[in-house]
Amino acid sequence: MDRCRSQSLRFGTQVFTETVNKVDFSSTPFKITTDSKTVVADTVVVATGAVAKRLHFSGSDTFWNRGISACAVCDGAAPIFRNKPLAVIGGGDSAMEEANFLTKYGSKVYIIHRRDTFRASKIMQNRALTNPKIEVLWNSVTEEAYGERSLTGLKVRNMVTDEVSDLKVSGLFFAIGHEPATKFLDGQLELDSDGYVLTKPGTTQTSVRGVFAAGDVQDKKYRQAITAAGTGSFSCFVIFVHLQF
Ligand code: NDP
Repeated sequence: MDRCRSQSLRFGTQVFTETVNKVDFSSTPFKITTDSKTVVADTVVVATGAVAKRLHFSGSDTFWNRGISACAVCDGAAPIFRNKPLAVIGGGDSAMEEANFLTKYGSKVYIIHRRDTFRASKIMQNRALTNPKIEVLWNSVTEEAYGERSLTGLKVRNMVTDEVSDLKVSGLFFAIGHEPATKFLDGQLELDSDGYVLTKPGTTQTSVRGVFAAGDVQDKKYRQAITAAGTGSFSCFVIFVHLQF
């Protein structure tokens, strides 16, 4: 990424590391307002991504990054998780993928799910359900995280029996979906029901001519670096053509 940034700078890009608070796409040139300035542009690529959702319960903030994470692939190999029991919350494909991934490092992986069925695809469910290191806690919600310097356990309530059990785990991974960073758009681009920017199929064009969207902000399915890079470079190509004609 540093090399990509250097390449952009070499071609004259000016980089402002600031939070965008407001955009005005009602007329061209478009206006983008940050904490300290307003820049104008003939074309804009929105590539603000999506943030992993977190749950908030007693201890969840205290042990955030001290045993609690929202990305098993990023953090799962850390020494604090090695050969220790771990837990994943969620019932979608991400939860299945993360749980399977974590069995490489943890001694056991619990999937804590709030219902009695998974929404994950059959193949991903099967991989998790047939993995001998994975145990599913159905109809269960996490109410508390506790520990000392880092997480050592969870209080988990079974919603059917109302019983609260003590789960000794050293790691907890949220896999409950992502939230696209689109609030700052303030309704100026068409979004889908989950808040992702809608693009014309097969393109990166949004509902406003001259505004494009790339990466996770418009892709809730694949969410891979390679997809983000592909839609990003496609946007730049389209902008080049757009500015030429
Ligand atoms: P999903 O929205 O599919 O699943 C989120 C899961 O989290 C659901 O099971 C949901 O429960 C649970 N959940 C949501 N909010 C809460 C909450 N407050 N408390 C407890 N549980 C909660 O998100 P994913 O990230 O799993 O997947 C997103 C997309 O990415 C999907 O289209 C998926 O197919 C795709 N994907 C594909 C992969 C692959 O094929 N390899 C890998 C990863 C993702 P409930 O079911 O009860 O609503």
